[in-house]
Amino acid sequence: MKIFRKAGQLHQYLLQAKKQGRRISFVPTMGALHNGHIELISQARQASDITVCSIFVNPTQFNNQEDFAKYPKTIAQDIGMLEAAGNNIAFVPDVSEIYPSESSKKEYFDLGYLETTLEGSSRPGHFQGVCMVMKRLLTIVDPHLLFMGQKDYQQCMIVSRLIGLMGSQAKLITAPTVRQPDGLAMSSRNKRLSEGGLLRASEISKAMTAIRKALQPGRLDKLKEGAKKLLESKGFTVDYVEIASAETLELRDTWDGNEKLVCLVAAFIEEVRLIDNLLLN
Ligand code: AMP
Repeated sequence: MKIFRKAGQLHQYLLQAKKQGRRISFVPTMGALHNGHIELISQARQASDITVCSIFVNPTQFNNQEDFAKYPKTIAQDIGMLEAAGNNIAFVPDVSEIYPSESSKKEYFDLGYLETTLEGSSRPGHFQGVCMVMKRLLTIVDPHLLFMGQKDYQQCMIVSRLIGLMGSQAKLITAPTVRQPDGLAMSSRNKRLSEGGLLRASEISKAMTAIRKALQPGRLDKLKEGAKKLLESKGFTVDYVEIASAETLELRDTWDGNEKLVCLVAAFIEEVRLIDNLLLN
């Protein structure tokens, strides 16, 4: 596996590869890799000639500095996992490579309604930061295929919009969430949990599965309220339990029995903020 630290060098290398007709897949990550990331790499490998995985903990997408400082960093282990997964190129830039100047952090992206709800309203500025780093990474790598996880449902919708705004050639492929046997969605943030916290964290997916089982046309508030109460009884501080249109992410209080719905949860356990989602029908 080749490791690049400089944006210019990676860009030139990939330009040459593309001239030779190679197809490029890109998997952006913030490191602390787990099997969810590795699944994206393996899908990317099957779909292209060269896989590029970036590891960059993006400061501009953290609205909480403590969360940024505590984000797990396991770079040596990450490199080993990428080698073992058969990844071709790791891009491991410094902050100055991605944001060479203060002005490079200033661009504003018009994300419309998507930025005003769920993660957008709970984490002000988060999606602007996501777009900032993704625009830069997509410009450097300019991949044919971009692999991201459904685990970050709203982020996938935001990046899809960014691709449109940029006029990028990249085709976004959203891969299903990889879970532990107990249902817990794999996440770098799980590394911050105690053994007890990890056990309890699986209650999020259990609560969403219960909503899926109980879903019926009509009002949805009791389902949402029931899941929230259940999580609180297990020691979570719940940010939101919501049900939304799977297409537009508009929040729904009733269901007509037809519309495709997604359930989305954000909740704290041991002061770690976890998010997850489940398509309901
Ligand atoms: P992160 O390192 O958390 O920024 O995640 C990098 C990419 O991996 C994003 O596209 C995530 O949606 C995806 N990802 C994270 N966790 C999972 C998971 N459990 N299953 C599938 N993809 C995931």
